[in-house]
Amino acid sequence: MSDNLDKLVASARADYAKREDGYRQRALKMYPWVCGRCMREFDNSNVRELTVHHRDHNHDNNPEDGTNWELLCVFCHDNEHQRFVEQITYGEDRAAVTTHNPFADLKSMMDDKKK
Ligand SMILES: [Zn+2]
Ligand SMILES: [Zn+2]
Repeated sequence: MSDNLDKLVASARADYAKREDGYRQRALKMYPWVCGRCMREFDNSNVRELTVHHRDHNHDNNPEDGTNWELLCVFCHDNEHQRFVEQITYGEDRAAVTTHNPFADLKSMMDDKKK
């Protein structure tokens, strides 16, 4: 059971990394290398810790003008998603969330990370 979950999480991560690569490069060209929350600055030595956040939390929404992207350091990015997960977990009808929750994978990824 937990083996399966590990595999699922691993493959979700691999998918995410693959998909992220395309828009990440574009976002890094478009925006200054500064975290949008804590204003930490990045350069070539640590830019891997700067991640692309989707403002509407939809990773498939990648408009060419970059309006759905925000550069966040890994810490602020985690925070941002934690808040969002709590919102959809506690802020809405549970049934609706469990039947078609596009962020179910995300939540399991976050839970996994906390262990
Ligand atoms: Zn930050
Ligand atoms: Zn994000």
